[in-house]
Amino acid sequence: MRAQETRADQATHDQARVRPQKMSAAPAMLNSSGGTPSGALLQALRSAFPLFRTVPPQQIGQFLPRIAEVLRRVRTGLDSQGAQIALVGQTSAFDLGARGAGDAGVAGWVDPSAQDLMARLNPNHMKSEDLPSMDPGRGGPINLREDGEVAWYVIHEATHRFAGTLDYQYSSYDHELQEDAAQAGLAGALGQAAVADQDAEMLGRRVARDPATYTGQNGTARPLRQENWYAMGRRALMNADSYAHFVMTATGSPIPRG
Ligand SMILES: [Zn+2]
Repeated sequence: MRAQETRADQATHDQARVRPQKMSAAPAMLNSSGGTPSGALLQALRSAFPLFRTVPPQQIGQFLPRIAEVLRRVRTGLDSQGAQIALVGQTSAFDLGARGAGDAGVAGWVDPSAQDLMARLNPNHMKSEDLPSMDPGRGGPINLREDGEVAWYVIHEATHRFAGTLDYQYSSYDHELQEDAAQAGLAGALGQAAVADQDAEMLGRRVARDPATYTGQNGTARPLRQENWYAMGRRALMNADSYAHFVMTATGSPIPRG
């Protein structure tokens, strides 16, 4: 907590570099889509918000104002004078702040608001498809550990801090890119026909699932993590990792096959 304060000063400069390109480009793409996304934007939306895999592009437009509003709040929040990012380095597993985030392995966290803590008293509150309010008044800095000091986590945590998103489910993004690379390697060595069944099975796990099968809490182990991700339905519109996934893929990060 001592060395952290000087690092936090540094961080306000670092994050200012992360923010302008990605956090301006993604909303600009949404705004210029005219309500019917296509091309790379449509691919990014369908990757980050799996419910859109079953929605025709002309009908996705009705959901875009909410996505644009979350991103607007994040941009405004990160730009504001009081925005503070604390780089906490490698915290111990016994660190109270990290432990309060629910998992000693987390890459970052924002302290919950009183409203969040109240909501958590109902163990089924995340099973509901009613989306949380966007102004829950979370306060304090965005805390990032060393492995969280990348754009993905800055965006993820900033959506908690400034737009009241929840962790319905972490993305399977890294896992799916690794799967894609392994599958491409196999196809190269054995031929496409030899891996066709595996390929179909892999892609068959990447389809939108019935939102009623979402478990009600963030799953960390596979296959639950991936199953839950595809079963979020509308909840994805207030899911922190969906926004990180969207901003990254809309601005040029590779998109898993799907
Ligand atoms: Zn989170």
